[in-house]
Amino acid sequence: MTALGAERTGVARAAVIGAGSMGSGIAAQFANAGIPVDLLDIPGGEGKRNAPAESGVARQLKAGGFMASGGPKLVRTGNVEDDLGWLAEADWIVEAIIEDLDLKRDLYKRIETVRRPGTILSSNTSTIPRAALIADMGDGFAADFVITHFFNPPRVMQLMELVTAPETDPGVANRVRAAAKAALGKTVVDCRDTPGFIANRIGCFWMAVAALEAKRLGLSVERADAINAAFGIPRTGIFGLFDLVGIDLVPHVWGSLLSALPKQDDLHRFDLPADPLFSELVASGRYGRKSGAGFYRKAGDGSREALDLETGDYRPAEPVAAADLPGGGRDLAALLADDGAAGRYAASMLATVVAYAAEHAPELAADVGAVDIAIELGYSWRAGPFKLADRVGPATVVASLETMGRPVPALLAKAAADGGFYAADQVRAADGRMTVRQRPASLSEAREIVGNDAASLRDIGDGVACFEVHSKMNTLAPAVFDLLEDTLARAGRDFDALVIGNDDPRTFSAGADLSFILSLLESGEDATLEGYLRRGHDVFHRVLQAPVPVVTAAHGLALGGACEIALHTQGVVAHAELTIGLPETKAGLIPAWGGCTRLLARAPGRSGPKGPMAAAAQCFEVILPGRVSRSAAEAQEIGYLAETDGIVMHRELLLPEAKARAIALRDAGHRPPGPVFVTVAGPSGAKGLMSTVTAAHAAGRMTDTDFMLAEALASVLTGGPDGDPSRPMADRELMDLERETLLVLLQEPAVRGRIDHMLKTGKPLRN
Ligand code: NAD
Repeated sequence: MTALGAERTGVARAAVIGAGSMGSGIAAQFANAGIPVDLLDIPGGEGKRNAPAESGVARQLKAGGFMASGGPKLVRTGNVEDDLGWLAEADWIVEAIIEDLDLKRDLYKRIETVRRPGTILSSNTSTIPRAALIADMGDGFAADFVITHFFNPPRVMQLMELVTAPETDPGVANRVRAAAKAALGKTVVDCRDTPGFIANRIGCFWMAVAALEAKRLGLSVERADAINAAFGIPRTGIFGLFDLVGIDLVPHVWGSLLSALPKQDDLHRFDLPADPLFSELVASGRYGRKSGAGFYRKAGDGSREALDLETGDYRPAEPVAAADLPGGGRDLAALLADDGAAGRYAASMLATVVAYAAEHAPELAADVGAVDIAIELGYSWRAGPFKLADRVGPATVVASLETMGRPVPALLAKAAADGGFYAADQVRAADGRMTVRQRPASLSEAREIVGNDAASLRDIGDGVACFEVHSKMNTLAPAVFDLLEDTLARAGRDFDALVIGNDDPRTFSAGADLSFILSLLESGEDATLEGYLRRGHDVFHRVLQAPVPVVTAAHGLALGGACEIALHTQGVVAHAELTIGLPETKAGLIPAWGGCTRLLARAPGRSGPKGPMAAAAQCFEVILPGRVSRSAAEAQEIGYLAETDGIVMHRELLLPEAKARAIALRDAGHRPPGPVFVTVAGPSGAKGLMSTVTAAHAAGRMTDTDFMLAEALASVLTGGPDGDPSRPMADRELMDLERETLLVLLQEPAVRGRIDHMLKTGKPLRN
C-alpha cells in the first residue's frame, strides 16, 4: 500500500543509482512508502552482474532500513550497463554514487540518453556545487536537475536539503518537495548552492570549534562533552560524537570543506585535519567506535577510559554530571557567566558558532529559521544556533565576541539591537528584516470545546473534533475517561466525526496508568480497581459503537491501553515509525481493555486458515511475548493495524490525513457496527495453545510467572472454561472474561512484583 499522500506527488516509480550506504537507504525508504524503485550500481563480476546492487539491499535488511518484510520486493536491482533503460520508467532518479565529479558528470550524460524529459534527476552529493555538476549539460537537463542532500541513515534522519536554481522547472521543484515529504518523510530545507549547504557547513564548523577550543582551554573530553550536552547538543557531546561518526572522516569531510571555502572563511582558523591530535588519531587507526578506540575506549576490564588531551594517554573516564557544571547544566546564563574554564569554553564556543552562522546565513538560506531547522534535524541539536542565541540574549553573544576581540556580524548586531532572531510568528530573513515564519499548525491553536488537566476536545474544522490526551506520557488516567465519556455524549451534536490524536513529539500514549493501578491495588480496595478496568471497557466499547466515525492518529509510542483504544476505532492513520503493541505481559498483566477481544474478533478475516483455533493461536503468539512493532507496516503484519489502515511518512501529515479519513467515513454514511460476536475454540483450544508453552516451561525456558500468564491468556482467547465453539460469544462477554481474569492475576504477589519493578526501572522483571 502506498503511503497516504504519496500518490498525489507524481512520483509513482523511482530509481536510485549507487547502492552504497546512502543509495540503498534511499531506495529502501521509497519501498517503505510503497513506491517501486530500481536500484542500480556498477556491474559485478561474471555471472553476478547485479551483485553490488543486491548487496545494497542486503545491507539495508541488516541495518533495519526496511520497515516491512515485503519491502525488498519493491526494489528491482540492476546495473548501469545492462539496465540503464529502466530509468525511462522512473519519475524521480536519485544519483547517489561516490563523491567524484567526473564520474557523476559521465553518468549524467548517459542518463540523458534514456530518461524522459521532465523526470526529476537529483544528486545526493554532500559537497559538489550544483553548478559544477551540470556544467556540461544542456538547458533541458538543468531545468530538471536539483540537489537532494539526505542524511545517514536515510530512514532515520528527517532532514533533506534541497538546492534548486532560478532555471529549475517549478513543477520539478514542487514534485521533489511533495515527494520528499509525503513519500520519504523528509522535512525539506531550501539551501543555496554553497559548499556543504547548511547543516554540514555549520555543523562541521561547530564540531571543529568545540573540539579545538576544549583543547586550547585545557578541558577534559568528559567535561567538554557535558558542556555541549548542556546546550542541548547531542547527548554524545562533542568527542563522543567524533567517536560515533568516525575520526577517519576528518581528512575527507573537513578537508574537502576547507578546500572548497575561501581562505578568509573562519573554518580555516579551526583546521581540524591539520591539528596534531586529530592527525595522530587517524594515523594510529583510532577512529572511534568502529575501531574500538578514539576519544574514549573500553579498557580490558570493560571499564571506560578517556583520552587525556594533553598527554595523549588513556586514563579511567571521569563522567561529569550536568549538576556539577556551573548553572547545574540547565541555566545557560549562569554557565556562560562562569569565569572558570567551563564558562569560558561555553561562551567562546557559543559566540564563535553563532557569529559564524550569522555571518554566513545570508549566503546559505532565505532566513535564519532554515539554518536552525537544518542543524536541529541534521545534527540533532534541541535548538539551533539562532534559537540558542535568543535564549541567552543576542547581546550576551555580542559581549562575548567583544571580549574575545572578534568582529560582530551585521545580522547578529541587528538582532541584538532589535529584539532577537525570532518574534512570535516571525523570523529574521537573510537581509536582516523580520519575515513570516513558516511552521506547522499546532493542535493547541484549535479551539478547545471542553477540556481538563489530562485531555482536551478540540474543534479541528469541517465538523471534525480531535480528542487530545495530554497527561504525563499521555497515559489513560481517570480524567481522560471523564473527558472521553463527555466527548462521546457530544457526538453528533458538537461534531460528526472524531479523531483521537495529539501533537506530542514522541508519545501517542503509554496506555493505562500503571502507578494508578498499583496505588489502587495497595489501597486494598478491589472494587475501585475493578471500576477503573470496567470504566475503560465501557468507554472503549462506546467508541466502537459511536454514532460518528472515530479515527486514531497514532504515532510514536502507542502501548497497551493506547493500542486497545486504537483497536476500537473505525480506522487508524499511523505515522510510519510507529511503536504499537500490547506489551502487558512484560508488566505481569494481560490486555484487559478489549485488546484480546478485538484482536481475536478481527484475526480470522486477516489471513491464514479460518477458524477459532487459528485466530486464537495468532493472538496468543502476539500477546504472550508482548510483541511491539518497530514500524506501522510491521504493525500491519502483526495485526495491530488493519490492512486498510493508512500510513503517513511525515508526522505533519498525520492529523490532516486522519481528519480526511474521518470525513470520508462520515461522508460514506458511517453506521456503528452493532453487536459483535466471536466464535471461540473452548477449553480444548486452550489446551492446544498451552502444549508448546508447557514444554518450554518444563524445560526451564519459561518462568513460572510467564507460565501463569500464558494459562490466563490461553483461557481468555478461547472463551474461558465455558467457551463453546458452537456458541459465538458477544464481544462484551469476552471483555468481561478479560477483566475478571486480570483481577485474579492481580492478586498474585509475582504479578505485583512485576508491576512494581516495571514502574521503578521501566524494565520487565524475569520472575
Ligand atoms: P558509498 O561509497 O557507500 O557508495 C557509493 C556507491 O556508488 C558504491 O556502491 C559504488 O559501487 C557506486 N558507484 C560508483 N560509481 C558508480 C557509477 N558510475 N555508477 C553506478 N554506481 C557507482 O557512498 P555513500 O556514502 O553512499 O555516498 C554516496 C553519495 O552520497 C556521495 O555523493 C556522498 O557524498 C553522498 N552523501 C553521503 C553521506 C554519508 O553519510 N555517507 C551523507 C550524505 C550524502
